[in-house]
Amino acid sequence: MLSTTKNDAASGFFMVAFRSAVLHCARGVLCQSVCHLSNPQVWSMPCEAQPRFVVLYGSQKGQAQSIAEGIAEEAQDHGLGAELSCLSEHEKYNLEKENAPVVFILSTTGDGEPPDSALQFVKRLKKKTLSTDHYKHLSYALLALGDTNYANFCNCGKTVERRLQELGATQFYAAGYADDGVGLEVVVDPWLEGVWEAIKGALSKMASDRKGESRDLPKETPDSQISDVKLNLLSLSDEQNCKSLTASVDPDSKSAPVASTSASAAQTADSNLRATSPGSHGTDSVSASAPQTQAVAVEVPPVALAASLTCSLPPLSESALNVPALPPPYLDVSLQDVGTMEQIVEQPIKESLHEVPINRAVHLTSGDSVKTSLLLELDISAHPTIAYEPGDSFDVFCPNRAAEVEEMLHRLGLHDQRNCHVHVSLKKDHKKRGAQVPPYIPQSISLLSLLTWCLEIRSVPKKAFLRALVEQTADGVQRRRLQELCSKQGAADYNLYMRDRSLSVSELLAAFPSCSPPLSLLIEHVPKLQPRPYSAASSCVKHPGKLHFVFNVVEFPAGSGRPAGRRGLCTGWLFDLINRGLVFPERVERSGSPALPKIHVSLRPNCSFRPPSDLSLPFIMVGPGTGVAPFIGFLQQRERERQANPEAAFGETWLFFGCRHRDGDFLFREELEGFVTSGVLNHLKVCFSRDDPEQEEQKEVATSVARPRYVQHNLLLNSRDVTEILLKRNGSLYVCGDAKNMAKDVNDTLVEMVRAELQVDQLEAMKRLAGLREEKRYLQDIWG
Ligand code: FAD
Repeated sequence: MLSTTKNDAASGFFMVAFRSAVLHCARGVLCQSVCHLSNPQVWSMPCEAQPRFVVLYGSQKGQAQSIAEGIAEEAQDHGLGAELSCLSEHEKYNLEKENAPVVFILSTTGDGEPPDSALQFVKRLKKKTLSTDHYKHLSYALLALGDTNYANFCNCGKTVERRLQELGATQFYAAGYADDGVGLEVVVDPWLEGVWEAIKGALSKMASDRKGESRDLPKETPDSQISDVKLNLLSLSDEQNCKSLTASVDPDSKSAPVASTSASAAQTADSNLRATSPGSHGTDSVSASAPQTQAVAVEVPPVALAASLTCSLPPLSESALNVPALPPPYLDVSLQDVGTMEQIVEQPIKESLHEVPINRAVHLTSGDSVKTSLLLELDISAHPTIAYEPGDSFDVFCPNRAAEVEEMLHRLGLHDQRNCHVHVSLKKDHKKRGAQVPPYIPQSISLLSLLTWCLEIRSVPKKAFLRALVEQTADGVQRRRLQELCSKQGAADYNLYMRDRSLSVSELLAAFPSCSPPLSLLIEHVPKLQPRPYSAASSCVKHPGKLHFVFNVVEFPAGSGRPAGRRGLCTGWLFDLINRGLVFPERVERSGSPALPKIHVSLRPNCSFRPPSDLSLPFIMVGPGTGVAPFIGFLQQRERERQANPEAAFGETWLFFGCRHRDGDFLFREELEGFVTSGVLNHLKVCFSRDDPEQEEQKEVATSVARPRYVQHNLLLNSRDVTEILLKRNGSLYVCGDAKNMAKDVNDTLVEMVRAELQVDQLEAMKRLAGLREEKRYLQDIWG
C-alpha cells in the first residue's frame, strides 16, 4: 500500500459504520494529543505552522512519483507539512540550505541509470569538487526502487545514498531497497509504515540540535539514529491454508472445499467496517465478521469453490483488511460535441517521431516453432536524422487495439460520444499535491483518439486505482473483492491474479461488471501509453537507408480473469499489420506481395552498447533468441570494417547463441554461418535447449562433457578463453535478451568462472565483474 487514510469519511466508507467513524475520530484526537505531549519541539506549533519536511523523487514510469505523492498526501494526517518536488524541479528545493528532513524516493532505469528526471541531480551530486562536509547539515531517508531481474539493482538509489554519506549527510532512517521483481510492496509498505516515526524523530533531533539542548530526546525518537525497517514479508498463510485443502478446479486457481462463501463474508464486510486503529498506521481498515461467517460455515454443507480473480477463500475472505487511502480525485473531464470544421487531433505526433514504411516482413521461425519471431525491415531513407549505430534501439509507437477501445467506450457508457472533444482540467478544490493535467493528453483530442493513443489500457491497475474503483462498484461482493485485491492481506492474490498475469484495466472491468468508473478516474489512474523499444538488428553501413529489427510475438494464455488468450500489444499489432505481406523464407514467394503499412518510430541512442572502438580488441557476444539482434548489426559493421581495412589486425569475435530447436528457431542461421566462413565471426557457440541429444550433432563439445542447453553452459565450457579475454586481454562482453532468467544466469556463471580462474572467493569475483561494468567492458541490453 503506497498511501494511507485520508478523507475517507467523505468517501462513504466510514459513513456506513457510524460507530467506527466515531471511534476513528476519537483515536485521531487521542493520537494527536499523545504526540503533542511526547514531542514538544515538534507538536507545540500551531496547526498552520506544521513542522515541515521535504520529499524529492526521481521517477521514470511514475512509481516513485506516486509513492512520493502518497507520502506528501498523508503528511497532514501526521501533523506534518510535506514539500514535494521532482528532482528535476531544481528551483523548488535547495539541499545546500535545507534544515528539514529530506525523504528521497528514487527509481532506477535501463542498465542501472537514474531516471531522466534525476539525471542532472545525480550528475551534480557526483561532482568531485564537493567537499566531504558539503551535506553535513542534511538529514535524509531514502527509498530506492529497482528490479533484481536487471543488473545494478537500485543503482540510482545506492549511488545517491553513497554520495550523500560521502558528503557528510546523516541518514535518519534505514534505506529501503524495493524489488519490482517480487513486488515493490514487500519493502515499500513496511518502509512507509516506519517512516513517520523516523521523520518526527529527525525533526525533534534537528530542533534540539539547533537549540543546543542536551535534554533527552522524546520517546518517539529512535534510540539509534537509524530506525530499522522491519520487512513484513508476505504472509503465506492464505496460500498455505488453501494448499492444505483439496479439490482444485482450475489449475490457475487456489481452490478449496469451503463451507462459507467469500460472498457471504463480503456481504457482511461493508456493514462491519472498522475504523483505522493507531496500530494500522493510517490505512483504512475493513473487517469481515469472523464469528458470523463461522456460523454460516456450520450450516452450509461443504462445496468446492475455487479462488480466482473475482473470488477469494478463507482466511482472506473473512479477514479484516487494511486498504490504501482513497486517492483524492483531481481531474474534471468534460466532453464537447465539435463541429465538423473543428480540428481534432487524431494521433498525438511528437516532433521526434518518424513515419516510415515497412519494406519487408520475414517470418524467422518455422511454422511449428512455439515462438513466432519476425524480422521487419523499415525504409528510413527519407529520414536522414535516423542515423543509428549497432547497439542503438528505437521506439515503436503502437495504438491500443480497436476492439479493446470499443469495449472500453461501451463500458464507460460513452460510445455515442466517441468523436467528442475531451477537455481535461484540474478540479478547483482538489486535494492532490503536485496535481497536473497529464501532459501527454493534447488539448484537442477526440475521446476515441485519447483511448487509442494516450492511455495504456493494457496496464495492470495499481492498488490505488483498485481502491478508487471500490467506490464505483455497486455490487457488494465485487466491492469486497476489489478491497481485498488492494489490501495488505490480499497482496498475494494481487500478485497472483493481476501482476503476474499482466491483467489489464479492460480485463479487470470485464471481470467486475458492476464497476462503472467515470472517464476522469481512468485518466487519473491509467498511465501513458508507452512506445515499445526494439534493438536495431542491422548496420546502416551494410543496409543504407534501412533499419531491421526482430521480435517475438508475445502470447498471454487464457486464465482467471482472461477468458481467451491474447497477444502482446505492440507485437500483436505489428503481427496483424504485416500478416498479409509476410515472407516465409522457406516457401516459394508469390510475386507482388501486398504493400505493407507505415509505422511511427523514434530513435533511442545507446551510447555505451557499442562494439569496441579499438578494432584490435577481442569481444564476446551473448545473445540467445531475439537477443542476437544487436549482434547482427555488430557483425555486419565488422564485415564492412574488414573489407575497408584488409591489412588491419582485428580482435577475436565470439558469439554465444541459444534457442529451443536447431531446425525451428535458429535465427539468422545462414547469415551467422556466413560470418564464420568469412572470418568475421571467429567462434560461434550454439546450443538448443529442447533438441533430443541423441539426434543432435554437438560436434564442438567433447563427449565427456554434459550437453550444453543454455548459453551459460557454453560459456562455462569455454571458461578459459572467456576469462582470458576479459581479465588479461582487455576484451569486452555484451549480453542481450531476456532479463528475467538468462541475464541473471549468465551473470552467476561469470562470477563462478572468474572465481575459479582467479582462485578468489565469490565476493572478490563479484567485485571484479563490477569493475568490468564500470570500465564498460561488461555491458547488458536486456528486457523482460
Ligand atoms: P506487452 O503487451 O507490453 O506485454 C509485455 C509484458 O507482459 C512484459 O512486461 C512481459 O514481462 C509480460 N508478459 C509477456 N508474456 C507474458 C505472459 N505470457 N504472461 C504474462 N505476462 C507476460 N523485444 C524484442 O522482441 N526484440 C528486441 O530487439 C527488443 N529490444 C528491446 C530493447 C530495449 C532497450 C527494451 C527495453 C526492450 C526491448 N524489447 C525487445 C522488448 C519490447 O520492447 C517489448 O517489451 C516486447 O516486444 C513486448 O511488447 P508488447 O507490447 O507486445 O507486449
